[in-house]
Amino acid sequence: MPAFDIIVVGSGGGLDETNLSGYLLKPCDASWEDGIVALEAGSGHGALRHIMKRNPTIFGERPADEDPSKPQITPFTVYSNVKCFLLTHAHLDHINSLVMSAGTIGGGSKRIYGSPQTLKDLETIFSDRVWPRLATWDESNPLFRLVYHSVHADGKYKRIFPDISVRIMEISHGKNDSGLYESSAYFIRHDPTAHQFLFFGDVEPDSIAAKPKNIAIWRIAAPMIPQQLSVIFIECSYPAGRPNEVLWGHLCPEHLVQEMINLATEVVLARKAPKTRAGGSRPRKKQRKNPVPPEELHGALDGLRVYIMHCKEHFSSMDRPINHVIGDQARDLLKPHHLGVELLTADQGMKIVWDQ
Ligand SMILES: [Zn+2]
Ligand SMILES: [Zn+2]
Repeated sequence: MPAFDIIVVGSGGGLDETNLSGYLLKPCDASWEDGIVALEAGSGHGALRHIMKRNPTIFGERPADEDPSKPQITPFTVYSNVKCFLLTHAHLDHINSLVMSAGTIGGGSKRIYGSPQTLKDLETIFSDRVWPRLATWDESNPLFRLVYHSVHADGKYKRIFPDISVRIMEISHGKNDSGLYESSAYFIRHDPTAHQFLFFGDVEPDSIAAKPKNIAIWRIAAPMIPQQLSVIFIECSYPAGRPNEVLWGHLCPEHLVQEMINLATEVVLARKAPKTRAGGSRPRKKQRKNPVPPEELHGALDGLRVYIMHCKEHFSSMDRPINHVIGDQARDLLKPHHLGVELLTADQGMKIVWDQ
C-alpha cells in the first residue's frame, strides 16, 4: 500500500548549487495543495522552477473541469504550501534555500524541525549578521513566519504534520576542530498505515566513526523490513576507492555496502529472535562473537529499496551524472553479497511513489 509521494527537488551534495539536498513530501492520500513537508532545504524555488519547466504536470494534471481562472501552480505556490521544514543538520547544502527564501516565502507560519544542535547552528545564520533574524522560538509571535521547533532523540515519534510522525536518531558526520559533528536520521511514518521510510542526513561509516551510531538505527529498522519499512534514503557522497582519511564524514560505495551488510545481519538476527522476546533486548555481545555467515544474509533485504543521494560532483567534467557512476559502483560491489536490496539513485526531478 502506498504511503508517501516524494519529489526530488535536489539530490546532489555539491558543487552544483542548483542540485542540493531538497525533497518535498506528502502522504499519498492527500493532495499537494493540502500541505507539504520540505525534507531538507538545500535547493528550493530555483531548482523547482527548472523541474516544472521540464515536467509541468509533476504535481498532477489540472482537472479538465477546473476553473480556468484558478492560479497556475508555481514554485512559489508550492513552497507557500510547505507547512514545515525537517532538517538533518545545518550544513549549507541542506539549508541554503530555506535561508534564501526566509524573508519572502509565501503562505502561513512554518515550523523548522531539527535536533536542538541543528537549530542552534541555524540560529547563527539568522542572527542579524550573515542573514537577518527571520526565525523565532516564539510560536505566538506574529511577526515571524519561521518558528524553530526541536525534535529530541527520545525514542518517540513526534507528529510534525497531519498523518506524519518522525523519530529522530543522532548520527555521526565526522569531526572538526571543535569535536565530533552530528547529523540526524529520521524514521518518517505515515501514521494511518504505520508504513515508514528512513532518511539519513550526511553520515560516516560506523567502521571509521569515533562513536559508531548507525548500528543502533539498523537494529531499530531491522524488524520492520520490509513490511513496514521498505525505503531508505542514504548518502554516498564519493566514488569507490576514496581513502578513509578524506571521506570527511561521508560514505563511499565500499562503506555503503558494509552498512547494508550490517543491516542485513540485523534483519537476520531480528527474524531469528524468539517471538516471545520480540521488542526486548537481545544478547548482543554473544551475537557479535557469532556473526551471521554470509550465505544466511542472502535475500535478507528482499523488498527493500535504497536510494543513494548526496553524491558530490567532481570538478572535472564527467560523461555521466556522478550519482549514476557511484550507483553502478555500489551495485557492482553489492552484487556478490546477494542481499536482495534494490539500489537506486535519487535523481533531481524524480517523483517517487512506493507501494508496500
Ligand atoms: Zn553535511
Ligand atoms: Zn551535505
